[in-house]
Amino acid sequence: MKGTYEKVVELANRRGFFWPSARDVYVGAPAGFFVYGPLGLRMKNKIVSLWRREIVLPEGVHEIETPNILPIKVFEASGHLEHFFDKLIECKRCHSRFRVDKLIEESLGLKENLEGLSDDELMRIIRENNVRCPNCGSTDWTGIKKFNLMFTVAVGAEASEPNAALRPETTQGSVVEFRKSFIVMRGRLPFILGQVGKVFRNEISPRRALIRMREFQQLEIHVFFDPNNPNRIYREKLEPYLNYKIRFLRKEDRKTGEIIEMTAKEGLESGYTINPLITYWLVIYQKFFNEALKIPLERIRYRELIEGEKAHYALAHWDLEVYTEDLGWTELVNNTYRTDYDLSGHVKVSGNDLRISDAEGKKILPHLYEPSIGLDRVLFHELMLSYREDEKRAWLELPRYLAPIEVAVFPLMKKDGMPEKARQIYKGLIKEGFIAFYDESGTIGRRYRRMDEIGTPVCVTVDHQTLKDDTVTIRDRDTMNQIRVKVIGLPEKIRRFLREDISIEELQD
Ligand SMILES: [Zn+2]
Repeated sequence: MKGTYEKVVELANRRGFFWPSARDVYVGAPAGFFVYGPLGLRMKNKIVSLWRREIVLPEGVHEIETPNILPIKVFEASGHLEHFFDKLIECKRCHSRFRVDKLIEESLGLKENLEGLSDDELMRIIRENNVRCPNCGSTDWTGIKKFNLMFTVAVGAEASEPNAALRPETTQGSVVEFRKSFIVMRGRLPFILGQVGKVFRNEISPRRALIRMREFQQLEIHVFFDPNNPNRIYREKLEPYLNYKIRFLRKEDRKTGEIIEMTAKEGLESGYTINPLITYWLVIYQKFFNEALKIPLERIRYRELIEGEKAHYALAHWDLEVYTEDLGWTELVNNTYRTDYDLSGHVKVSGNDLRISDAEGKKILPHLYEPSIGLDRVLFHELMLSYREDEKRAWLELPRYLAPIEVAVFPLMKKDGMPEKARQIYKGLIKEGFIAFYDESGTIGRRYRRMDEIGTPVCVTVDHQTLKDDTVTIRDRDTMNQIRVKVIGLPEKIRRFLREDISIEELQD
């Protein structure tokens, strides 16, 4: 629904999902940094848990945690020092600086992505269209300059200049620690490391709330495999999904925008998805977004990147994108086949042998495939896609298990022992492990609306009848339907309701 973006940002700010860091206190605090409030943080943690449950545990991923700050040498080896930049242009009159592609896209209202164009082509578009400085209106521009996106730091009292950097991706931590992890875990290829962590990019123009930030969080897995035998176990793992349809926007279909549905089998046989290992992961991540995060298939696609758009380390690169009416298609997962680019870079720069021995004692420098989720963008899209409103109310139709508050308990009135009974039920639910909330202020209607607005799936109300027969009403956020159930057995019912796609009526005693 158009206009949702502004509504979600306002709601997030007002109810405590997220808001810009330090801006209420310090004028001019830099943009692109966000605070997660209590509701947003809970929801974020739930997305991480879901990913662990659906991907990390079943796939045997070894999750590790590496530092945010790494020696600058690491980024020399990874190519980030040389290649990780945006193209910047400066207005000669007011000295404002802009990311060239975004400046053009926004000035001309273009929908297409200009990342793949050369400097000359970009300059030509600026001249031919008389693109003006958004701040002062001048058309007098400098040439295009490279702007490295890494934040560098000087570590230690003796350091006079930067000798380290805040990581722009979690990958390098995994690559540097790959050999050690493989040995301590007595690994066998394919061997998968995973990381949940903060990353930092000095974006020229952060924007769109949680979409383009300077500090953000990734959920990454790093699949290391033998390039000569990539498919050990993966042929078999892919078997059940051979007829599953993966949705692609291939590079040759850019112009028409046509998304084609390719079965895993077709992807493999045509060579498009390279090998069973990569095909398997493309399937698993599409399924995760569709089935676990509940994003409708028609809003999901893998966009194949072309030369110039692809990351410097990528042999093959698809962005998993999700569509919203306000933001269009937005990248939520970067899926790249990085070959041995990273490991061999570290071998070269460090002089160390980073190969490992396979089961037969053969020395191998593995290849790397990486799906990397932008966690903040996922959370933001979950909010955007679940926002609903009608004449009476606004509510978030979140997947029930992602709701930051799972159940609210209300006394109908503040008298006759109803609050005492409601508090007792509330405490019982907390003990059972629910994220519960107790509220007795305002009319019952207002209390329901407040919970609807933050996506609380179920509300429990204690009324006069409760005191007579120990039953309560439970109300569904989406349909507003209510049924009456016994207090005994309430936790089991709520647990089922949160986990399964059932209607509230199915919980009737
Ligand atoms: Zn200017």
